[in-house]
Amino acid sequence: MKCPKCGYEDTKVLESRLSNEGRAVRRRRNCIQCNHRFTTYEKEELFAFSVVKKDGRIEPFIKEKSFRAIQTACQKRPINYDQMDAIIHRVERTIQEESERNVPSTRIGDLIMQELYNIDKVAYVRFASVYKDFKDPSEFTKEISSLEKK
Ligand SMILES: [Zn+2]
Repeated sequence: MKCPKCGYEDTKVLESRLSNEGRAVRRRRNCIQCNHRFTTYEKEELFAFSVVKKDGRIEPFIKEKSFRAIQTACQKRPINYDQMDAIIHRVERTIQEESERNVPSTRIGDLIMQELYNIDKVAYVRFASVYKDFKDPSEFTKEISSLEKK
């Protein structure tokens, strides 16, 4: 790592710390030549993917949009911001691992539902009822029992 001040090629790492839930490494560095201290971040590389809507339209995946849907489902539930943030990160990571450039919106919805189901049943029910657009209670019962089998 080059020193940003004097350009010297060698720096000493004073401290390494995991941040952003272990997805990034923060390093305090010290230039051996001029003693300048600076911080670097290493992050895993994420690729951008698109969402295929039910009507076939393709849109870029916007994390904030999914996050808002989760927030709405979690209103007044004992789920904090970090937990919601972690949900969206896990969903995103699962999709990254599948390496699909165009992801059906149903896939993303299913992943979020699964996450919410594990954390809070009320939030899950809210999310599912909006997302799945249930027409009557029997559809809903079916959905729950299919999740319980998984
Ligand atoms: Zn330097």
